[in-house]
Amino acid sequence: MRGMHSPQPSATTPGDGPRDQLGRALRDLRVSVTDRCNLRCRYCMPREVFGPDHAFLPREDLLGFEEISRLVRVLAGLGVGKIRITGGEPLLRRDLSELVAQIAAVEGIHDIALTTNGVLLPQHAEDLAAAGLGRVTVSLDALDDATFRAMADTAVPVASVLAGIEAAQRAGLTPVKVNAVLQRGVNDDQLEALADFGRRTGVVIRFIEFMDVGTTNGWRRDQVVPAREVVERLHARWPLDPVDDGSGAAVAERYRYRDGGGEVGVIASVTRPFCRTCTRARLSAVGELFTCLFGARGHDLRALLRGGIDDEELTARLATIWGRRDDRASERRAATGLTGERVEMSYIGG
Ligand code: SAM
Ligand code: SF4
Ligand code: SF4
Repeated sequence: MRGMHSPQPSATTPGDGPRDQLGRALRDLRVSVTDRCNLRCRYCMPREVFGPDHAFLPREDLLGFEEISRLVRVLAGLGVGKIRITGGEPLLRRDLSELVAQIAAVEGIHDIALTTNGVLLPQHAEDLAAAGLGRVTVSLDALDDATFRAMADTAVPVASVLAGIEAAQRAGLTPVKVNAVLQRGVNDDQLEALADFGRRTGVVIRFIEFMDVGTTNGWRRDQVVPAREVVERLHARWPLDPVDDGSGAAVAERYRYRDGGGEVGVIASVTRPFCRTCTRARLSAVGELFTCLFGARGHDLRALLRGGIDDEELTARLATIWGRRDDRASERRAATGLTGERVEMSYIGG
């Protein structure tokens, strides 16, 4: 990993891309392709807020695939190599594999992943893999059917998600990862069952701390199950050894089961924030660029694209936006407790 640099607004090192105010490069882009979802997870899109009267984005407001892939191409020129497609539920976006194919054709993009609730994977896994998708992360918070349905506020059975995971494995979108958000008193009893599922199926489970994203999920700090506790509980049942991938920039802290049962990870966004190594930008479905998950406002790239900006000017604008970036919201929260205006996760893309 590169060391910290002194502040250099919009400085660009040829071939390496701009550095932000804390010396962080731009390497990853999360692309949200829709704000809609076929589930209503209580912590993300509570039905009281995202009910029948909720105004989702009209189709013409969404960035088109050509617009997204143009941005990906320009951002690849500034150092982005990894793309993660997300939402809302990205598999609700029609013909998603066409977008994957367009992104896969961009020089410099070496990793394309998808975050999904898994329900529609059986229909789409093969097409996505053929189009160039590399990996999927499936969100699954419980194996117990009643707990799953209560958390996702849905009649869809957990078996549908498990079928999605199998479809992804069959299509070669491996290693499949599973993200599980643990909430105290809601699904923390699922920890061992989820870990055991990972050990049996070769899926890498990652336990994520419940975050205060958005303003509608009623976040309470006492509902966060700290990553340290997760690791202690797992280690007591199946001894673990830490894995150092040497990158220093990984979001997940990785562990290996000593008995050969594979790997497991924790993402300690609340208790051990990793802003210092955060090289990630997010593109909302309407084309706003956010330089932090906790940003209140994005930069309107759709207006630039539809206003006829050329690639050179677009590159300069993006380099300037990144060069001015000084976000470190999770570290601030850890130091002070975080409040203020924030954007919903289903909007910005998790
Ligand atoms: N619908 C897809 C899915 O569920 O995988 C993609 C979008 S979803 C917003 C992306 C990820 O964000 C999911 O893994 C979800 O569990 C996570 N997420 C949503 N709200 C969260 C919160 N308050 N704290 C932690 N993770 C959250
Ligand atoms: Fe939908 Fe994913 Fe949010 Fe659940 S976490 S409501 S599946 S966008
Ligand atoms: Fe990156 Fe913002 Fe998350 Fe910190 S809080 S890790 S800067 S997205």
